[in-house]
Amino acid sequence: MTAWDPTRAAGLEQMQAFAPRMGRAYSANRNTDFGPGRNISVSALSPWIRRRLVTEDEAVRAAIEAHGARGADKFIQEVLWRTYWKGWLEMRPEVWTRFEIERAQHDPMAEAVRAAEEGRTGIEGFDDWARELVETGWLHNHARMWFASIWIFTLGLPWSLGADFFLRHLLDADPASNTLSWRWVAGLQTAGKTYLATAENISRFTEGRFRPKGLATEARALQEIPVPAAGPLPPARRETPDGPYLLLITPEDLTPGDTIGPWEIRGVVSALEPGAERLGEHPQAFLAGAMADAEQRAGVRYGHPAQRLAGLTGEALVEAATAAGARGIVTPYVPVGPTASELTRAGPVITAAGLDLVMVRRPWDDGLWPLASRGFFPFRERSESALRTLGLPV
Ligand SMILES: Cc1cc2nc3c(=O)[nH]c(=O)nc-3n(C[C@H](O)[C@H](O)[C@H](O)COP(=O)(O)OP(=O)(O)OC[C@H]3O[C@@H](n4cnc5c(N)ncnc54)[C@H](O)[C@@H]3O)c2cc1C
Repeated sequence: MTAWDPTRAAGLEQMQAFAPRMGRAYSANRNTDFGPGRNISVSALSPWIRRRLVTEDEAVRAAIEAHGARGADKFIQEVLWRTYWKGWLEMRPEVWTRFEIERAQHDPMAEAVRAAEEGRTGIEGFDDWARELVETGWLHNHARMWFASIWIFTLGLPWSLGADFFLRHLLDADPASNTLSWRWVAGLQTAGKTYLATAENISRFTEGRFRPKGLATEARALQEIPVPAAGPLPPARRETPDGPYLLLITPEDLTPGDTIGPWEIRGVVSALEPGAERLGEHPQAFLAGAMADAEQRAGVRYGHPAQRLAGLTGEALVEAATAAGARGIVTPYVPVGPTASELTRAGPVITAAGLDLVMVRRPWDDGLWPLASRGFFPFRERSESALRTLGLPV
């Protein structure tokens, strides 16, 4: 297990160190939660992958190199779950808006919510995971499933507040993976299909550390107005236009040089995500370190020291672009979430100043996201040829 040093170099090192375990060992043991600091059966790469300090492409390549596509099948599948969730939400942005509205309708300070977040419910395991999340910034996948299920079906708390608790404390907190996983547990994502945590399953996959009493014995799916059908992916630019440009770094892609490549860059600015001040101690520290690492790498690559903006406003971006003598602003594609909402608000000010705001999407996302129009298994099937197009020997 790792201490999550927030740099690309440390993420790549962790990926290489885990590569020998991306094959049979992973598929045999990935469901067991061995406890804090002992989860050597999973990669713990999610904080780096979330911020694109390490990419899905790199993780899948490392797995194939070490075990071949068949041997690494399970690991590849799990990485593809992330890609699927990202693509699914990107084509249905309303689901993120619905989550924000739903969250605002509940009282986060209600005593039952605070007791759950502070690990004071008296439910074995659940209280331990609540504390582990706050104290480390990470939970094993199975613990996340049990926690969400107990939150919703045993404690009867609003799912959106549980998802918000995760968003504030996970190092890998992600608008797509988190929201859609909570929705899946609640029976909203696959309408009618819920996830019920049981004492037997928890005991088995925690090696007997926990066997909670009094868990809900049934999980009735939550209801909602049906989600709209998938829309098209928003456009993103691939060809390199004439510069010069101002490069904007956001926490959505902290390896911007990879995406932007040889564009003519006259200045580099960065901005934290809106709401970063709500994050817990560990995610705040990880994000601060990860941003500094990205700023340093981009500064060296493009020959301009990065300047941190106080906020992601149209005015601040226009001022920085004008000062740099740029005719537009370029940024790696910003998927659905708080940063994208802020950029949408900034858009009219940027356009009114006669500047171009260009987002560049990675070939991975361009090739795979459009396939997330239905369920995961059709996506998985269709992903094979997209992966081959990306040069992966699957
Ligand atoms: C309620 C709930 C909330 C979650 N919230 C998040 C979140 O905010 N951010 C997040 O990245 N993941 C989230 N997940 C998915 C998953 O739990 C984590 O990605 C995984 O535990 C990370 O650990 P790892 O890096 O050791 O994964 P590994 O098992 O080593 O997998 C390798 C990589 O594949 C991806 N991955 C693996 N499993 C999943 C999965 N089920 N869904 C999506 N991607 C996956 C991750 O990028 C991970 O780093 C959530 C799951 C649940 C049930």
